[in-house]
Amino acid sequence: MKAKVAVLEEFNKPLVLKSVEIPEIPSGGLLVKLVASGVCGSDLHIIEGKDPRVPLPIILGHEGVGEVVEINGEKKDLNGVSLRKGDLIIWNRGIVCGECFYCKVLNEPFLCENRKVYGINRSFSEYPYLLGAFSEYIILEEKTEVIKLSLKVDLETMVIAGCSGATAVHAFDYLKDNLLGSTVVVQGGGPLGLFSAALAKYQGAKNVVLITGSLKRIEVAQKIGIDLVIKRDEFTEEERIKKVYDVTYGKGADVVIEATGFNSAITEGIKLLRKGGTYLIVGIATPQDKIPIDFYDISSKNLNVQGVWVSDARHFRKAVTFIEKHEDIFREMITHRISLEEINEGLKLLKEKKAGKIVINRF
Ligand SMILES: [Zn+2]
Ligand SMILES: [Zn+2]
Repeated sequence: MKAKVAVLEEFNKPLVLKSVEIPEIPSGGLLVKLVASGVCGSDLHIIEGKDPRVPLPIILGHEGVGEVVEINGEKKDLNGVSLRKGDLIIWNRGIVCGECFYCKVLNEPFLCENRKVYGINRSFSEYPYLLGAFSEYIILEEKTEVIKLSLKVDLETMVIAGCSGATAVHAFDYLKDNLLGSTVVVQGGGPLGLFSAALAKYQGAKNVVLITGSLKRIEVAQKIGIDLVIKRDEFTEEERIKKVYDVTYGKGADVVIEATGFNSAITEGIKLLRKGGTYLIVGIATPQDKIPIDFYDISSKNLNVQGVWVSDARHFRKAVTFIEKHEDIFREMITHRISLEEINEGLKLLKEKKAGKIVINRF
């Protein structure tokens, strides 16, 4: 049996479509036929060679849902349900070792020293080869954490849970208090930002403010019930900050969430916060051009600045259940549905900021 795959062979070059033989499934592994795969903003950084984790050649794609075609042995999902052929599943993109200091002692598996990530650090030249979601089939290895999905779930929407959804959930772990009565500002209106905004809203934040450059995302923002959308390009930084101070009795936001993926957002984020506020830096996933920061701006306001790196099984499972409950709002985020053959056009649209979420749904 063969599988169509899209392979990154060289950085800054289009993905190459191929048809390859499906290898034997490793012990404890699953062969899954993709139903939907998400194209992520970080795929662009990967293609440009900016992510130091990425080996070549590689099948990209770290977000997906699919149907179990073959199981080599027994496999249970995170809820303890035994999987069978034909089940629809979603999987955690990262596989952690469970043995290292971070997994075992600190119980922070998202920091695992041996974390393997489908579509990011698994080479196409490494057995069992089909280790990314820009492919007709993916092979999930033994330690992969999966969740069986109900037949009623909208599978295209569910792909969001696997990456940005789970990472947004992780960010909220660092809030010391609940959000009742507070103001949360989200910088960046991509899937990560919108998921974060939705979480803040559903956790009872008084004001959720979204700062975004993309007009496409405003409709979704309205569905989520975001209280204030600030179109970045229409205002100066000073004006944007004033808008946030206007809704917070002149104090600034309790929480700011960076979901832009760019260092350039950070200095503004610090200014948006009230004294003692919390800055969650969630979006920055690749090394960046340096920016000047005066740490006095952090110490003099007694700010908490928290980096947030990827996610683990807890966050992943919460993200899946959140989308199951609220898929109507997240469905609006998907602006393009493409075939695997159209992947390079899809990546181009994303790069030119002409798309919201792009999903591959024809393999
Ligand atoms: Zn991603
Ligand atoms: Zn580990």
